[in-house]
Amino acid sequence: MKIQTTIIFAAIATVASALSVTAADTAAKPEARFRLLPFGAVRPAGWIKAQLDQDASGGELAYYHRNWAIQNKAYELRGHNPAKKDKQSEFWDGAAEGYWGLSLLSSSILADDAALKKRGDEFVASILKSQDADGYLGIHDAKKRYTPSMIDRVGHIGFMLQGLLDYAQANGRPDVLAAVERAVQCDMRNFNRTTTNLHAAGFMVMSYPQFLNALAQATGKKEYSDYAAFLIESYNTSGELDNPIYSDCKLPNLLDAKRPFYSHACNTTGNLSLPWLAYFATGNPQFKLAGENAFAKFDRQMSASGSLPGDEDNQGRDPSPEIPIEFCSTSYLVENSLIVGEKTGGSRYFDIAERCLFNAGQGARLPDGTAHAYLKRDSEFTLEGPGIFHREQYSPAQEPFCCTLRMISMMPNYVSHMFKTTTDGSALAALGFGPATVTTEMAGVKAGKARGIRVPRARADMDAGGNGEVRRRDHRSSGRIFFREETVERGRRGERGV
Ligand SMILES: [Zn+2]
Repeated sequence: MKIQTTIIFAAIATVASALSVTAADTAAKPEARFRLLPFGAVRPAGWIKAQLDQDASGGELAYYHRNWAIQNKAYELRGHNPAKKDKQSEFWDGAAEGYWGLSLLSSSILADDAALKKRGDEFVASILKSQDADGYLGIHDAKKRYTPSMIDRVGHIGFMLQGLLDYAQANGRPDVLAAVERAVQCDMRNFNRTTTNLHAAGFMVMSYPQFLNALAQATGKKEYSDYAAFLIESYNTSGELDNPIYSDCKLPNLLDAKRPFYSHACNTTGNLSLPWLAYFATGNPQFKLAGENAFAKFDRQMSASGSLPGDEDNQGRDPSPEIPIEFCSTSYLVENSLIVGEKTGGSRYFDIAERCLFNAGQGARLPDGTAHAYLKRDSEFTLEGPGIFHREQYSPAQEPFCCTLRMISMMPNYVSHMFKTTTDGSALAALGFGPATVTTEMAGVKAGKARGIRVPRARADMDAGGNGEVRRRDHRSSGRIFFREETVERGRRGERGV
């Protein structure tokens, strides 16, 4: 049956709320506006589906498993591979495998490709087999783990765990979810507020807190969002305030509203959700102010294509079409903006994700998925290469590998955020532009399948059961410079939003 979409928006004066922080704010922990649906509940349709299918069957994704960084199997062999084929350290092999885990598993769930699905199944089986009895999942021998020099040395394990979580949810595999929780519990026992010699450093906070946000929602266990807050606090107090690689999103630097972004651009965009995750876990208004400042800074330094320039550092520059953009920066920006949108309900964060994905993202890859640029300027319509560091060219496997693997996981991740439920579970929220279908249960009533919902069109045809309320994000804000903070509010069926 057809139902009328219903939305009401309320404006919030962002600046005013930031300046009126009071003691009373500290007491109240805010509640996130939306809840993630299990991975696989939202399925791509139309051109997004076609692109994912094509990438899976004939793009980089179809053969990236042959890359030596993946073949070195840092997780399974704990960094001891006598047949190791490249000169990278085991840290980078582990990082590659983390990126790969998310890219392979999320894509294999959403694309129709039997070979990719089989590869995903085999990968999960081998990673689960590598898990130690105490739950440890990673690339180090027992003596190296949880030591000051190694605490951040399982590169991007957050992505590996996110891929496993996606797989567990989409395939109904409680054993995989249990393995993921055991891995996190092992970290929680060995790295926590009592281990004061250990600090979360730059790479860890590009994926682990974001993954914990998803795990907390998947399990309903608040301890995981609290652990995310611990990791963020640990990063904030880890010293090296001026480390040019990853200092932009440390709390003191964010609280300095006049300080522009200087750091390695992908570390900056990869940390943009941190103050918001910490705010929603702790209620500390300092984090809210820091989160607002972070996006105000981004607004000032954003490229025309919607990303954060940096080759590799941003260096505090004003935006220019002549400054290259790293694909990683684009993918992390999309990911972190979607998380902030989920928490705050702010329409602007979905605007940022869409603008970046559909411009900087789609503009730096070949349509057939066979290659992409590591660095690309907005002024470039074609790439002759090799450019800076041999990175301004189209290649199926850039070095380092970060941008390639982030490119592969970017679209599946975006799809999974296109629809969410309101936090009370009473309504489905259509949040991200693009063709997709969603199947979910809301408030215990199976809602059926919403077909072909294409925001921002002012209609949603929904084949719904008894409870089929859909609220649609107001994209009118997209046409404004720069956006009002807008929040989806409850509405009654049949009412038109204002
Ligand atoms: Zn990169």
